[in-house]
Amino acid sequence: MRGLMQDVPLTVDTIFRHVEQHHGDVPIVTNNPGGKVRTTYAEWAQRTRRLGGVLDTLGISADGRVATFAWNSARHLELYFAAPCTGRVLHTLNVRLFPEQLTYIANHAEDEVVFVDRTVLPLLWPLIDTMTTVRHVVVMDDGGDAEIPDDPRVLDYETLLAAAEPVEFSVPDENSAASMCYTSGTTGNPKGVVYSHRSTFLHTLGVIAPNAFGLSVRDVAMPVVPMFHANAWGIAQAAPAAGSALVFPGAMMQPQAIADLIVDEKVTFTAGVPTIWQGVLPHLAGREHSLREIGCGGSAVPKALSEAYREQVGLPILHAWGMTETHPVASSGVLSRAFDDADEDTRATQRARQGIPFIGVEARIVEAGTIDELPWDDVATGELQVRGPWCAQEYYNPDAGAELSTSDGWMKTGDVAALDPFGNIRIADRTKDLIKSGGEWISSVDLENAIMSHPAVAEAAVVGVPHPKWDERPLACVVLKSGETAGEQEILDHIAPLVAKWWLPDAVEFIDEVPKTSVGKFSKKDLRTRFADYEL
Ligand code: ADP
Repeated sequence: MRGLMQDVPLTVDTIFRHVEQHHGDVPIVTNNPGGKVRTTYAEWAQRTRRLGGVLDTLGISADGRVATFAWNSARHLELYFAAPCTGRVLHTLNVRLFPEQLTYIANHAEDEVVFVDRTVLPLLWPLIDTMTTVRHVVVMDDGGDAEIPDDPRVLDYETLLAAAEPVEFSVPDENSAASMCYTSGTTGNPKGVVYSHRSTFLHTLGVIAPNAFGLSVRDVAMPVVPMFHANAWGIAQAAPAAGSALVFPGAMMQPQAIADLIVDEKVTFTAGVPTIWQGVLPHLAGREHSLREIGCGGSAVPKALSEAYREQVGLPILHAWGMTETHPVASSGVLSRAFDDADEDTRATQRARQGIPFIGVEARIVEAGTIDELPWDDVATGELQVRGPWCAQEYYNPDAGAELSTSDGWMKTGDVAALDPFGNIRIADRTKDLIKSGGEWISSVDLENAIMSHPAVAEAAVVGVPHPKWDERPLACVVLKSGETAGEQEILDHIAPLVAKWWLPDAVEFIDEVPKTSVGKFSKKDLRTRFADYEL
């Protein structure tokens, strides 16, 4: 017997119409260099329909790639919807990528137009002749003072919008592409992930849910995670869909500016990578605020950081896990009732886990290179694999060898994890960051967590360096907080009770800063190169 329900496509224009019809009075604020700009979803919806008209005027093909090179802003949100709602494919370019990677990505995706914030125009313009398919550069004046080139390809966003007619949105096929995003290349060349309308719709619902970010009409949401990084973790669709007000940091990404925005705009929900919250902490500590949740992921959230927020800001960090390939959010670490009576340290340890998968996403761990499942005993570690309606099946025109799916249809994550009996994920490492010592694996994440719990330590990254006997041994790269002192032995003594004896790093290097990737993660690739000839 078949179900007798309507088969309505799950598309982004359905989300758009919901916001337009029901949440028009909800405010959106963008913090531009020239001052805050305030608007509403009603105004945004009108402008988004006109932007659809602009894409027609510019002659963008039916499923042409519409690139953005921009900070988080209300205009970027217009693009987030106008492109997919007219059948085009939004392609967010990461403004912090190396020039060669930007050229590679724009050409690989065959971008036809780039919408660029004036503040970052100087990063894009010198590359424009290398982007062979780009026909137009549309400048969004965010109050920056960069010179605008006198070139027929360069157009002004507001001028185009003022001249355009609003269009109707209707996307018939839920499996058509809505947007694409390239992995930021923490490991290897960027790879293109193509989100469908259906996956976007379902991920939006997943992110709104109470065990995830729990967004509602009561919220003021501020995505600090850039809209060019992994679909802004779904917040740019989820907040409008839930009728939450939106606050965008624009180009004002300095820790002080972010903390002030949280306080002044009464932000209730925000999200970003750990290094952001590390920087914001001293500017937020002790101030009055309206936050109910800080979402964090992209790399492991150190227990010490979450605890510092609990103690100094009044709420711990909500740990989430995901990848560009999973839209990106796939699990979150909300504490179940089993921890209601647990002591704070046990609760904090549990929060440092990556949590349970969202409804619809399933997880398993397997023996490396096989599809043989390992037990959920929190001891066995293996490759984490996931499957679900917002997990990618394959990359967009991948290089040879970039296989994403297993023979039985699960997605390989490249992460090494253990699962507890309830399937709560504990990421031990990325496969490429694991340290192989004498045939056994050492988790760099666990070591970093232990080192970062030392009060004098600001940041720590542990990498494997070549060793004549053991193959590789851990080297701890430590950044001390300003004004603090600690020696190698003190650090090692501190972590000795926290990790297995043979895991203890062979050396501690004190460095000024851990190098970061374009999305603010620790770049262990850079550290490994820097210490490749390290003598242990
Ligand atoms: P890139 O692969 O370029 O770093 P992504 O943002 O897609 O770009 O990174 C996804 C990876 O980030 C995951 O495979 C995982 O290794 C890491 N990651 C994401 N969230 C967490 C988390 N909460 N804890 C540990 N690692 C995480």
